[in-house]
Amino acid sequence: AMGNVQRIVERRERLLGPGNPLFYDDPVHLVKGDGVWLYDADGTKYLDCYNNVPCVGHCHPQVARALCDQAALLNTHTRYLHENILDYAERLLGKFDDSLDRVAMACTGSEANDLALRIARVNSGNDGFICTNATYHGNTTAVSQLSSIFEPVGGYGEHIRMVPWPDSYRALNGLSGEALADAYADEVRKAIASLNDSGIGFAGMIACTIYANEGLPDIPDGYMEKAVAHVHDAGGFFIADEVQAGFGRTGRWWGYEQAAVVPDIVTLGKPMGAGHPVSAVVARGELLDNYRAHEMYFNTFGGNPVSCAVAQAVIDVIDEEALVDNAAEVGDYVLQGFRELASRHEIIGDVRGSGLFFGIDLVSDRDTKAPAADKARTIVNGMRHKGVLMSKIGEHDNVLKLRPPLCFSKQNADLLIETLDEVMAAA
Ligand code: PMP
Repeated sequence: AMGNVQRIVERRERLLGPGNPLFYDDPVHLVKGDGVWLYDADGTKYLDCYNNVPCVGHCHPQVARALCDQAALLNTHTRYLHENILDYAERLLGKFDDSLDRVAMACTGSEANDLALRIARVNSGNDGFICTNATYHGNTTAVSQLSSIFEPVGGYGEHIRMVPWPDSYRALNGLSGEALADAYADEVRKAIASLNDSGIGFAGMIACTIYANEGLPDIPDGYMEKAVAHVHDAGGFFIADEVQAGFGRTGRWWGYEQAAVVPDIVTLGKPMGAGHPVSAVVARGELLDNYRAHEMYFNTFGGNPVSCAVAQAVIDVIDEEALVDNAAEVGDYVLQGFRELASRHEIIGDVRGSGLFFGIDLVSDRDTKAPAADKARTIVNGMRHKGVLMSKIGEHDNVLKLRPPLCFSKQNADLLIETLDEVMAAA
């Protein structure tokens, strides 16, 4: 069957061109999904410890049925009246702080962030934004300016300031505790001052509320509160990118709930449709209304009846199957297992996580914390050959990244931990 995989890889290169990223040294050819399981063309079964998009589990029957039923009945756009978008808006907004009381629908996380930037620009009258120095927020021209992992075509504009991501492990100036939180927050304050001094002015700060792409740090206590206070003191807006953190991933509905902050604007995507492309911006009403007074925003596919039926089914399943609580409970269990592994495997420098999102920071030396990116690659590929799918991430590309579907069980966790133990011993 390896011959067939090779044929598909070559066909892909010929039709899609080189440079389309693939996972694993031996790519996986998946043909079926069911809950936390994925199956390849040979019938090999993989435990999915990577995919956060199918948050309710792959191919959940209730979600598939909602999609098929609505697709068989009607699909149009939002210039006709339809109640699916209203039913969904009510349901979604019910999950947020009362101040976040309007929603605009789109199709991808990138589009949601693009719209969020426009809302912040119109309402602040300024162009300057802050992001971290190791992040990704999407692929539109405007949003790629705020994506520090890949440099955008033409380079970065004058209106962008990057601040260090709030890492407690490789901490800024070796600080800890409140001094560390203050130091990282001060970087935000300085970036705002720099935008103001340059005459560009400050519109807002965008951040993934769990800093997932940065490497899922333990965020210093008080950092979010202090950083957001600087943003608000300067008249800017805090855009919480919940594209990865949202919909129960952290054992709470939203990642921002881990701190005592309420964003002005929230962006949603990935798990929102469990695989169907649907995204949204949730904002304080006056911000979205004022934006709409300045610019007509229309999105042909955003908020269509099929997308809204799917998204509604996703929230139904999360609630009916108590998946947010499951993420918290099984997440704690997995973390304990990883900490036990850390007591036996020197290569593990740090174990981090919240809910069902984990980072295992691999080091070649625990004292210097030198990142072990090569070992991360070996382990990710070793796990794939033992039937467990995961990946790596982070500024140094040395952090094992795991975010299984939210229906992950303790039994699944045992298999993951046992397999990781074996693969780490071999590496
Ligand atoms: N925000 C974050 C934090 C992301 O990780 C991503 C995608 N990895 C995006 C936004 C962009 O989402 P999409 O790929 O749906 O445009």
